[in-house]
Amino acid sequence: VNLAILKETQPHERRVSLVPSLTAKLIKLGARLHMQSGAGDAAKLSDSAYQDVIFMDDRHALVEDADVVLAVQPPAMSVINAMKPGAILICFVYAANEPEFVQCLLTKKITCFAMERIPRISRAQSMDALSSQSALAGYYAVALGMSNMTKVLPKITSAAGVIGPAKVLVMGLGVAGLEAIATAQRLGAVVEGYDVRPETKEQALSLAATFVDTGVDATGKGGYARELTPEEKITVNKALTKHIQAADLIITTAAIPGKASPKLISKAQVSGMKRGSVIVDLSADGGGNCDASTPGETTHIDGVTIIAPLNVPSMLAADASELYAKNLFNLLALMMKNNIVTIDWEDEVLADTALTHDGKLCDATKTDKTD
Ligand code: NAD
Repeated sequence: VNLAILKETQPHERRVSLVPSLTAKLIKLGARLHMQSGAGDAAKLSDSAYQDVIFMDDRHALVEDADVVLAVQPPAMSVINAMKPGAILICFVYAANEPEFVQCLLTKKITCFAMERIPRISRAQSMDALSSQSALAGYYAVALGMSNMTKVLPKITSAAGVIGPAKVLVMGLGVAGLEAIATAQRLGAVVEGYDVRPETKEQALSLAATFVDTGVDATGKGGYARELTPEEKITVNKALTKHIQAADLIITTAAIPGKASPKLISKAQVSGMKRGSVIVDLSADGGGNCDASTPGETTHIDGVTIIAPLNVPSMLAADASELYAKNLFNLLALMMKNNIVTIDWEDEVLADTALTHDGKLCDATKTDKTD
């Protein structure tokens, strides 16, 4: 099986979809590995670190004979056009944002597995790239926030007196939010968590955080949240304001599948926060959870710093690549048998993850996780 690994071309994308520790395992599965020169450079993985890989400069020549092409972000359409009809592409797609790209996959009859579609079931956990990348983002949000604060997170006792601990509020307790809670706890902050799914209360408590209970249950389909009604928004805002205003650091991660990021913090609430406090808006890729966020930028309003970073996993490129590449390897292990690729369409992991096959959309009703 000819496997081709592309160098990412999108701005600020530093991850790579193969790491050196996995080459031997892939070869054992029956892969011949071809990689674009310098593909790991941005993750500080040099070509020489990869054993038994053929490096090529030209990305079109690289994919021409490939049975499977691996990437992090959707590659340029010229790359798709250079692929063999019937070949497989595995990467994040977010089809709703990429209509022309999807059309190109259909026209070229590429079988595309979109990593954001991996089902959230136990058997697929080792392939769940959304979770592996979100966990790193949750961790890094605390580091980003901390380095922009004018206060310490833990209680520090010195001869001159005692300072801290800081109050941290984490809003949205999915994979990223829970990792942010765990990280802030480890660093000694006093942490509160909030979500619209009541089941997250127990998860927050198990991490020794407290839970802000607004009395609103907005559990939606498939374990995700649904949008709040206007009445629910009023109730929630009322309950949250005093927690927002008491926080030194707020990390927001709220998302609803197929929708823009819900707005959890208004400009007025920002203005009511303490001077020197910081918001890290991890939902900036979906538009942001704070009305004052500008995706990709850091803004300052009334002494409050609002950081809205894009593609946070890419900032931890080596570890994010390591986990993403393992997710890909585990998915490939489902389809590579006896040195050939066989797709068992009865396997729900493969069937759910597939976006296009043989010129057709696999499941037009399945929505993207974010807009
Ligand atoms: P996500 O990125 O879709 O959303 C982050 C969080 O935002 C969610 O917890 C959601 O409830 C919350 N949210 C949405 N609107 C909100 C609002 N208005 N106010 C506050 N919070 C709001 O979440 P995710 O990390 O992808 O996880 C989603 C679900 O999938 C969770 O139930 C998680 O436990 C589950 N999951 C299951 C598996 C598995 O079983 N294999 C793996 C990963 C995640």
